Amino acid sequence: MFCPSCKSLLRPDGENLVCPRCGFDKPIDGSVEALGRTTLEEDLKDVPVFEDLDTMPIDESVLCPKCGNIGAYWHLRQTRSADEPTTRFYRCTKCKHSWREYA
Ligand SMILES: [Zn+2]
Ligand SMILES: [Zn+2]
Repeated sequence: MFCPSCKSLLRPDGENLVCPRCGFDKPIDGSVEALGRTTLEEDLKDVPVFEDLDTMPIDESVLCPKCGNIGAYWHLRQTRSADEPTTRFYRCTKCKHSWREYA
């Protein structure tokens, strides 16, 4: 976790994370969750919300990386640049885990 104003590495101090350079601090609660995020979950920032699951197609050959269930809702999203490939997004039918497939 880095200081939002001066980008120094925050140090834990009691129940806070404190910036040694500018004195910025924030409660450790909340930041712990952010620190624990995996790269995969970071990627999900731009995963679109899966709505209308009843009408979404299910790919029965996809393995959920989280729970091992086979079968996931999917849909395609065209990226802004025509040079980039279409990204396919999945959502597990069992545990609701969402992920993206890089073409
Ligand atoms: Zn700072
Ligand atoms: Zn799953």
